[in-house]
Amino acid sequence: MFSYIDPAIVELLLRKNVLRHVDQQGHDMAPGPDNADNAELPYLSILGPVPLPITLDSGEEALFQWHAFVRHSEYGLIKEVAERIRTDQTRDLVPLLSTYMQVSSILTHGDFATSEAPVVRVHSCCMTSDVFGSRRCECGPQLHAAFARAVDEGAGAVIYMSSHEGRGIGLWAKAVTYLLQDMGQDTYEANTALGLPEDSRDFADAAVVLHALRPQNRAIRLLTNNPLKISDLKKGGIEIREVLPLVVGFTKHNLRYMKSKKSKGHDIPDAALPDTALPDAALPEDK
Ligand SMILES: [Zn+2]
Repeated sequence: MFSYIDPAIVELLLRKNVLRHVDQQGHDMAPGPDNADNAELPYLSILGPVPLPITLDSGEEALFQWHAFVRHSEYGLIKEVAERIRTDQTRDLVPLLSTYMQVSSILTHGDFATSEAPVVRVHSCCMTSDVFGSRRCECGPQLHAAFARAVDEGAGAVIYMSSHEGRGIGLWAKAVTYLLQDMGQDTYEANTALGLPEDSRDFADAAVVLHALRPQNRAIRLLTNNPLKISDLKKGGIEIREVLPLVVGFTKHNLRYMKSKKSKGHDIPDAALPDTALPDAALPEDK
């Protein structure tokens, strides 16, 4: 992973403790990932903190600390991918390709390492909403609400999973699903129509980076409506003291999508979902 970085710089980053290699429990490991033959490859490498001043929706500026993290590739995995291609199990291949080898981020605010049960949002990358501001989904408003919540509470974190575009299928396939949705398919059907999983996201790495940044403190409060995130983080040893709903960003453009998510187990209160029979004027308007 770090083969293109000058070894002297890697050494400097390690010495300054701004590059860490951790195992699957989030414990620090002795360096050695640059040696491809080293059997003791770390599970994640974590770079940071890098101070990032962020402007909130309110216009207020708040300081977050950014860590970038990446899961290391494994030779076994590459062999497994090759075998699956050979046996044409392409449906199973997608999560492997989409989850690995991408650099994700955690942005923390306040005294995240030691604060009692801080709020955490695990956010799946959504270029169309987070960056372009599309209202076909509610991702962008959720992201901004999570930053604001961390600041309001004095401490918290947003984990930005870069490999989760389109619930794990990637941006290209997501564009196809949007076109299929506009032909009448719902968001989950559109994924399966492509021969892709409905949801191939894996939140295991989020649990590991939380352990690494809060080694003595496993309890968090999770901002989510998604039961998969709750179960994956619990499987990863995170104690979820409370699940806080994050219901923002409803518009007439994403109503069908939100109902589809609810039908798949997302905990979205009925009161937040206006009936489709209502005229557009009665639906929440775009901000
Ligand atoms: Zn989205």
